[in-house]
Amino acid sequence: MTDKYTQFVSGGFGRDLARKLGLPQPVALRRYTPGDPLLEGPVVVLGPGSGAESIAAQLLGWGLDVRRNIGGSEKIAALVLALDELADPSALSAPVQAAGQLLRQLKASGRVVVVSRDPATANDPATAAARQAVDGFTRSLAKELRAGATANGVILREGVDAGASSAMGALRFFLSARSAFVDGQFLRVDDAQAVPDGGVRPLDGKVAVVTGAARGIGASIAATLSRDGAKLILVDVPAAGEQLAATANRVGGVALQVDITAEDAADRILELAGTRFGKLDIVVHNAGITRDKLLANMDPARWDSVIAVNVSSQLRMNEVFLASPLFAEGARIVSLASTSGIAGNRGQTNYGASKAAVIGMVRATAPRLAERGGAINAVAPGFIETEMTARIPFATREVARRLNSLQQGGKPQDVAEAIAFLVSESAGGVNGEVLRVCGQNLVGA
Ligand code: NAD
Repeated sequence: MTDKYTQFVSGGFGRDLARKLGLPQPVALRRYTPGDPLLEGPVVVLGPGSGAESIAAQLLGWGLDVRRNIGGSEKIAALVLALDELADPSALSAPVQAAGQLLRQLKASGRVVVVSRDPATANDPATAAARQAVDGFTRSLAKELRAGATANGVILREGVDAGASSAMGALRFFLSARSAFVDGQFLRVDDAQAVPDGGVRPLDGKVAVVTGAARGIGASIAATLSRDGAKLILVDVPAAGEQLAATANRVGGVALQVDITAEDAADRILELAGTRFGKLDIVVHNAGITRDKLLANMDPARWDSVIAVNVSSQLRMNEVFLASPLFAEGARIVSLASTSGIAGNRGQTNYGASKAAVIGMVRATAPRLAERGGAINAVAPGFIETEMTARIPFATREVARRLNSLQQGGKPQDVAEAIAFLVSESAGGVNGEVLRVCGQNLVGA
């Protein structure tokens, strides 16, 4: 659905009025179209150690206009802050001050990406403190940026160099327009091979299944994976058959009417994948439902159906996929969680439980995918403009869509772009992670 307020304040009288009254002034975000340049303008790489050097060298290799310093009048497309060698919180001062000096030069929809190390594996308290400080710094900075600019972080796990291909894959996603609605977030990367620049069709030759693909976010995921080169199976309930067929025709894919709570749902998907394509590389567990009620009024049917669709079906299907020889080496799974599963949401004890359960499932399944060179991750959308959120009463909806650092609802495409990244070889080394696509929700976690 359209966000009339954002249109109203985007120019002329509306913009002046919003400015005068101190009202939110969301801007149209830069979104990805294949063939667009990664960045339009210089990227400045700051940082005290050798990490900054190796990141700068990699970015130069991508043909970017890389600077280690820049004049006071030139506009900047992105700022990369390499903080991977911090051993004490006091060491943050100089690099963050240097970054602060440049923020006024950051363009609309500009990017700040901080590269740091995992506090959980620090050897001493001062190093752990310094690494954890980066988290609070980045999240706070994200809340200060304006005009669609974002700040996110890449966290290097033990033994990963700042210039490693896995780190570069995550860095490239955060720099790109694919991460338009990802703000104040981190991705941890392991030492695995990644292909940071997968080109315009990074999923060429891959076979993907998307559940709940008839409409909304699922239809957008299907369109985006197809755009990126994947062959598709689109799944939805028989009741949505007509819409599913229309979507499959539009994006180019095979429609499969199946309820994912059926015992044989995964077998039916594998059977179709086997006969049509001979393998299955990518699973996107997108189908989900809400049945909101306060817990005091919650009937068993509402609770049970949400758990059954949103998580039990995924648990059952994953076991079948993982046992199948058709589920290819390097296979990738992405599950749709929700910020409600992280921060909680009134009236959604069932939904919040199911989406938190998805996160637990993803973390516990990650080692099994790693064994075969694959990965499983979760994407947690915040407020996304779909039929699901269009059903929220007007006043609640208007508040909910403004309560994030970008002051607007995301688009289904924003969730789809994050998923397209996570199922691609650019995301090598990203496993068991939860990536929020929420514009940095201001409420809750
Ligand atoms: P939607 O209701 O518009 O679409 C969901 C699709 O899933 C529908 O086509 C529906 O028919 C299908 N589906 C439902 N039950 C199914 C079943 N048993 N078997 C097969 N298909 C089934 O929802 P959406 O807004 O596009 O959300 C997609 C996913 O994103 C869901 O998992 C949802 O929980 C999650 N999510 C959405 C938002 C948001 O703001 N819209 C926020 C956070 C998370």
